[in-house]
Amino acid sequence: MLTQRLILTGDEAQDKQLIQQAAAIIRAGGLVAFPTETVYGLGADALNPEAVRRIFLVKGRPAWDPLIVHVDTPEGIFRYTHAERALVEPLIRAFMPGPLTLVLPKREMISDIVTAGRDTVAIRIPLHPVARALIRYSQTPIAAPSANKFGRPSPTTADHVLDDLNGEIEAVLDAGQTPMGVESTILDMTTQPPTLLRPGGVPKEAIEAVIGTLRSLGQPIAEGEALPAPGLSARHYAPSARVLLCAPTPEAFYGTLVDALSQYGFVGAMRPKGWRVPQSPRLQVFEWGAWGDWETLAQRLFLGLRALEQAPTHAIVCPLPPEEGLARAVRDRLLRASQPPKS
Ligand code: AMP
Ligand code: MG
Repeated sequence: MLTQRLILTGDEAQDKQLIQQAAAIIRAGGLVAFPTETVYGLGADALNPEAVRRIFLVKGRPAWDPLIVHVDTPEGIFRYTHAERALVEPLIRAFMPGPLTLVLPKREMISDIVTAGRDTVAIRIPLHPVARALIRYSQTPIAAPSANKFGRPSPTTADHVLDDLNGEIEAVLDAGQTPMGVESTILDMTTQPPTLLRPGGVPKEAIEAVIGTLRSLGQPIAEGEALPAPGLSARHYAPSARVLLCAPTPEAFYGTLVDALSQYGFVGAMRPKGWRVPQSPRLQVFEWGAWGDWETLAQRLFLGLRALEQAPTHAIVCPLPPEEGLARAVRDRLLRASQPPKS
């Protein structure tokens, strides 16, 4: 199969035509990768079980790991879930459209393939204008996980999508780099209080300011333990190189790089602005952004991991962000990326 790259240039009429072309593919049961404000998604008609089944096939995603359904209006949330209005309306008002996904009891038309057999469905309203137009022109909700091979760093450019999925999907809508760079926050609304399943684009603190204290799942669990929620297996978002985390100080970063260079052939550095690195022809440096500028560091996280892996490197050294605000999402992805592969 030839994967079409549909390049959006900002020319309104022309972009509209390309998005309508992509919508026709979705309606015909095909797969289209598209930009959202978080990362690129791999979309299919959420009401077409055969189309959704293909998402799992091309990603190599296990059938027990459910997908997020994307709709373009709050009414869409009520159409496909049994949501209690009083419970979800404050969240809709505060954060939607945007990078917040709610897990809610599903209605019948959402198939078991989308939800991995659960009676709940994860649903959100993306903010990216291209994602919204695609849903609107498709006239159907779009089921979409991130558009990468299972377990790999999420794609934040159309090139990343093609690196993983070229020849296996019908098209990718190319609108350049995604603005946030980390996935949506996932909130399970079926527990009291709601449970934070995955930190993401909307900080936990911002949600708590609206609906009060959340339950947390805590640190990623070890491989093989029973999963409290699907898709939370420890190793995820991982490049082929080992990810070595260090304390977030320039001294610890420098020292960890020196150690890594003594143990690994080629080493990569996710370098915060101005932090010192050792001189070595075996060191590849990715200029990540200013430490503390979490918007930039989140946006460039997967870009850096993928660039250093292609350099190529055997190990990537990265400082670990703190557990607060948007930094919590970056920290979560790095903790998972640093888990050693199962032997
Ligand atoms: P991805 O879009 O690739 O980040 O994957 C979507 C993630 O949403 C999955 O890995 C799950 O963790 C989560 N998810 C989807 N549906 C449900 C559900 N019904 N209950 C809990 N988590 C879910
Ligand atoms: Mg994913």
